[in-house]
Amino acid sequence: MRELVLFNARLVDADTDAPGAVLVRDSRIAGIVTTDRADSTDSIHKGLTGLCGTEFESVDCRGLTLMPAFIDMHTHFRYPGQSEKETLETGLRAAVAGGYGAVVTMPNTKPPVSDPETARRIREEAAAYGLAEVFQTLSITEGQMGETLSPLESLEGIPVVSEDGKDVEDPSLLIGAFRLCARSGALVACHCEDSSLSRAARVYASPALSRLAEDAATVRNLALADAAGAGGPKSRIHICHVSTETSLEAVAQAKARDLSAVSCEVTPHHLALSTDGEDSPRPANQSPRPVNPPLRRASDRSALVRGIASGLVDVIATDHAPHTAADKGAGAPGFPGLETAFAVCNTALVHGGVITLGRLSELMSAAPARLLGLDHERGRLREGFLADLVLLAPGESWTVEGARFFTKGKGSPFEGMTLTGRVRGLWLRGERVFPFSR
Ligand SMILES: [Zn+2]
Repeated sequence: MRELVLFNARLVDADTDAPGAVLVRDSRIAGIVTTDRADSTDSIHKGLTGLCGTEFESVDCRGLTLMPAFIDMHTHFRYPGQSEKETLETGLRAAVAGGYGAVVTMPNTKPPVSDPETARRIREEAAAYGLAEVFQTLSITEGQMGETLSPLESLEGIPVVSEDGKDVEDPSLLIGAFRLCARSGALVACHCEDSSLSRAARVYASPALSRLAEDAATVRNLALADAAGAGGPKSRIHICHVSTETSLEAVAQAKARDLSAVSCEVTPHHLALSTDGEDSPRPANQSPRPVNPPLRRASDRSALVRGIASGLVDVIATDHAPHTAADKGAGAPGFPGLETAFAVCNTALVHGGVITLGRLSELMSAAPARLLGLDHERGRLREGFLADLVLLAPGESWTVEGARFFTKGKGSPFEGMTLTGRVRGLWLRGERVFPFSR
């Protein structure tokens, strides 16, 4: 039996913010002691006596904050098939360096992941690294061709399906996916984009048409989820990377209708950046910072931030999308996000006075755990939960240098910016995995 005590920490999760200590026994949290007096380490130590055995490792966390490890619902590891952009190992190291204990990897790989056996095999391959846990999604249609459904009948160990990278154009297929997934409880994560409107947005170099491509698809997909659930179990629909005010309004309306189980995510880059202030507003395909969905107007960004504050937005997900320098130079959409997510959100939202650190923990840990069905043992500081713990210096400033990232994707939109909040350590199942020993 191995015991570890992390003491003198500020303990923060979705419903805790107090000085205290955490006792880890083997892979789980065996005890938590908090005090409401900032300097009362004596009482904390007394509280731990009796919980611990005689010999244990201890880590003094003075000045630092201990939170449940983050969980990313939207990551691209480019595995299999595009090892020049990322590998399982580089992706996992980036995740761990960013404070993540689990990531959901998207299926738009080469070839796409369309069968449960392949998804489970990738999950096992990832586990061999002893870093973050991987939940591999399945594409909604076979090979992401949009013609027939992937085998969605047996999704054991696969909490999410998604066609990410594009939308499912055929409504009948999407309704079929909602119905099959409602039976197993899997979440259908929708990349909302009307491809014909996106094409028109490129032809006419129109940011307004680009927004409409997202808005129209969001409204459609939410309505299809409602229709699919009529007379049966509710559809579970999760809207990926919401980036416009109108799409977020559509999510709010769908939540109010309550005909489907609706959730949504936003990315750190859409919360922190907008196109206002660029020399001249440019269409997505000519942006100096290409990403899909594109960065939007400041008014859209403000609406997303309001949605974070009001509780309308469920989750912050990175959409970590690494590319080679050459691909990025050619305008490939997507940014690396895992290693900057906490600092970006801490700077823009917590230091920006929008939310508390506890609410950020909810957005990055507790809520993803709930949506993925992992909340019986992840996402909060709670006795009996997995000892997946991230140690943070929320007040420490640093300057982003993509060249120092662990991911192969070095082209960050935050390059050169000074952010506040740094990941100082990560334990997964009670084992220290970051900083790396080699
Ligand atoms: Zn997407």
